[in-house]
Amino acid sequence: MGQYREKNCKYCDKPFRKQGLFCSKSCSNSNRPVSDRVRDNMREVAEEYNKTPAALARQSQFNTPLVTLESDDYAIEIPTLYDIPDGYSTDF
Ligand SMILES: [Zn+2]
Repeated sequence: MGQYREKNCKYCDKPFRKQGLFCSKSCSNSNRPVSDRVRDNMREVAEEYNKTPAALARQSQFNTPLVTLESDDYAIEIPTLYDIPDGYSTDF
């Protein structure tokens, strides 16, 4: 008995029997969940924002670390910390 029911790939619609929503890694990469893209977007914004004087000022004001660029987890809550200035549209 197969461990997984046959289902259609969410991206290319081919039937497959595997865990997950996609038949292959490339399909999964081609159709990542929105939350992943939002996180990438936030990371980009954070990297830019960390270079600004405002970010550095906040860091010393609240004694919080800057957003870590390597980690998937942010050391701070970005949405509540940010007063996103003009030019830092997040395009959510
Ligand atoms: Zn596929």
